[in-house]
Amino acid sequence: MQPAAGSPVYRRAMLKLSGTALADESGFGVDPERVAALARQVVAARNVGVEVGVVVGAGNIWRGESAQARGMHRSTADYMGMLGTAINALALQQAIEALGVETRVMTAIEMREVAEPYIRRRAVRHLERGRIVIFGAGTGNPSFTTDTAGALRASEMDADILLKATRVNGVFDRDPEKHPDAVHFPKITYIEALNRRLQVMDATAFSLCMQNNMPIVVFELDGKAKNLVGVLRGESIGTRVEPG
Ligand code: UDP
Repeated sequence: MQPAAGSPVYRRAMLKLSGTALADESGFGVDPERVAALARQVVAARNVGVEVGVVVGAGNIWRGESAQARGMHRSTADYMGMLGTAINALALQQAIEALGVETRVMTAIEMREVAEPYIRRRAVRHLERGRIVIFGAGTGNPSFTTDTAGALRASEMDADILLKATRVNGVFDRDPEKHPDAVHFPKITYIEALNRRLQVMDATAFSLCMQNNMPIVVFELDGKAKNLVGVLRGESIGTRVEPG
């Protein structure tokens, strides 16, 4: 049976937000206005009637790989990146709670004074109770990305969809910011994406989704949550990547 118009087509969604979504135009730092706007989007998603988990990145604060290139040990640089995600998670938590919605921040690296440690079954309980769960500190391990954390938490939470918010609305055959004639794919299978060498997510994150049959929707956050809410209602927005 088709769901009624306006009702969600997913029960539980995992949203992956890059750190830069929290930054000002320079791409760095945490801009309270941007965070407030993001919080409104996340709450709008939940108000569609979907359980929402959020995995945040830290590209606005620190990227392990760039620090390694400048001589730092990769593991130290990556732990710093993971701590950066916790900063973003707290900013988002505060902004969402300012809208009257209950949240929990759960981190893969223990920091009990500021967040709950990540425990899978507890996270599921929070989601079931309608709380927005913000997952910080990535996977807790160096050498991974927060896209991989998104893929991992989506599977662990039995989410129906991994939503990857990006700067462009979906997956294209070439970078649409450089090539205005780039071709957009409304829907693509994992295998097609691999064969065409389309950069949907990094290889680890992508293979984790593939292995767990976790569909991904890549879409652009548009400021008014139109895209995000539309995706949750099953509208054809961005690109849906799924098993063949
Ligand atoms: N990171 C890590 N392990 C993880 C997730 C993240 O070591 O499981 C580190 C890594 O250094 C990365 C940084 O945290 O560069 C920020 O994450 P990411 O680059 O994924 O953030 P985004 O690009 O989404 O803002």
